[in-house]
Amino acid sequence: MAADNFLQTVIKELENYDGDEVRIMEVCGTHTAAISENGIPSMLSPKIKLISGPGCPVCVTVTAVIDRLVELSLTENTCVLTFGDLIRVKGSKMSLADAKAEGAKVRMLYSPMESIALAKENPGTNYVFAAIGFETTTPVYAMVLEKAMAENITNLKLLTSLKTMPEVIRWVVNNAGGIDGFIAPGHVAAVTGEGVFRDLAKELGIPFVVSGFEGEQLLLTIYALVKMKGKGGFKNLYKQVVTPNGNEKAKECVEKYFECADSSWRGMGKIKGSGMVLREEFRTYDAGSIGLDEDHMPPGCSCEKVLVGKISPSQCPLFGKSCTPDNAHGACMVSTEGSCYNYYISGRK
Ligand code: SF4
Repeated sequence: MAADNFLQTVIKELENYDGDEVRIMEVCGTHTAAISENGIPSMLSPKIKLISGPGCPVCVTVTAVIDRLVELSLTENTCVLTFGDLIRVKGSKMSLADAKAEGAKVRMLYSPMESIALAKENPGTNYVFAAIGFETTTPVYAMVLEKAMAENITNLKLLTSLKTMPEVIRWVVNNAGGIDGFIAPGHVAAVTGEGVFRDLAKELGIPFVVSGFEGEQLLLTIYALVKMKGKGGFKNLYKQVVTPNGNEKAKECVEKYFECADSSWRGMGKIKGSGMVLREEFRTYDAGSIGLDEDHMPPGCSCEKVLVGKISPSQCPLFGKSCTPDNAHGACMVSTEGSCYNYYISGRK
């Protein structure tokens, strides 16, 4: 009962807040989707602005990566394996879905270990797994590789475009700016441990709060960040999942197969130390991931500004007009974790 009363107080205070404007960035695409699903923006005072950051993996993947995947999918005896929305993102000429329509071999996966089963069942086909994502999914690719090696599978490779959070957050603060607080990504923190975000809060002098994905958890996180504006600091409000040191087993597995590298981000260019690539000794399992830096925005698309919070999706002239989920111009409208998609489906302005 006391907790319910507290939540009611939080809801009322967030609705009636009349202090200085507070700009809060959620850097995780899953938070972006959860914020829309729970109708959080409509519960906040107009003086509390939520801004989506660069944490949707599909949205930040550069066109050179898509182009390489398309090229591989059109190669004889080669099949590209991918999760979800990546299949619909356009490269400089076409998407994987377009390539598939032209006869290329592209297959959606529902579980990463399906890649192992496919490679074993079809030894005459070379499989390339599109390995995109953040700290949360990199351990999954490490486990796939471990299994492939253990079973002597040689017809499965990874095309990696793996990102890490700390450097891109620094980039956003230094290049886009104007952020009063960060909703730190709960899933990433579950792997890395809370210390990564505690250190960033200290270094940048901006508050960070680690949050879960339920509506109530997000409201409590936003409330904490409003109170912390201008003071800095760190809180972990997702302690049931996020520990100080994170998932040691997952981190060890990643460390064994991957190393830190520079990485290119849609609209942000190459950011030093912001990605992971296969270690030199495992590069025989790499399908040509190094040096995929080129990026071409679709004409008129403003994803590069949306991704760092310089404009909100509804400020893009194409938003809701020629660009909708059924006719998406840019990756931010394709992905269900993209900010344009989530603004559109929830009617957010
Ligand atoms: Fe790009 Fe469409 Fe978003 Fe505009 S609304 S930034 S065109 S994805």
